[in-house]
Amino acid sequence: MIQETLKVLRITTYGLLGNEFLEVLRVNTTETWITPYKRYLVDGLLPVEPMKAKIVKRNARQYTLIDGNLFRHGYTHPILTCVCGDQCVCIMVEVHEGICDSHIGGRALSLKVIRVGYYWPIMKEDCVKYAQHCVQCQKHANWWHAATEELRSIYSLWHFHRWGIDILGPFPLAIRQMKYLIVAIEYFTKWIEAE
Ligand SMILES: [Zn+2]
Repeated sequence: MIQETLKVLRITTYGLLGNEFLEVLRVNTTETWITPYKRYLVDGLLPVEPMKAKIVKRNARQYTLIDGNLFRHGYTHPILTCVCGDQCVCIMVEVHEGICDSHIGGRALSLKVIRVGYYWPIMKEDCVKYAQHCVQCQKHANWWHAATEELRSIYSLWHFHRWGIDILGPFPLAIRQMKYLIVAIEYFTKWIEAE
């Protein structure tokens, strides 16, 4: 008895001699967004629901069938291959963190997928969702450096109760080789001295 782990769903039937076999590959029978358009373009059949039928009929002019595959054409972009299901995820993965490895944001990702030549109706929402859930993007995002609390003024009770000194520079060389600046501030009068 031969035992093996199947990576692709298939049924293999071996013949009497063991060298003839028949492979039955998975046939995708699920209905996707592409199916009604194909049905309409090939046989002129519309969905039963009037609302869906109206949408398919209206949008069908943007689609064309080439060798049984659906393509979308437009004025501002090249002809796009229509995809659905797992293919959409594969494309997003490849463009976002695959060979392109750009880790761009959701909106830019959807535009790049169009430039690469693919289309599905909710691609913008899917790309935004995908970018929001990318672990690397969350880890290396630009952190917000603003203070978590509101800034408050520093009060001073009397003269020279509190004062501060800062050193600034280096600046371009000035006369007598000076390039640093010492700034002192007295908090009560807000008097500033710079040397
Ligand atoms: Zn990312």
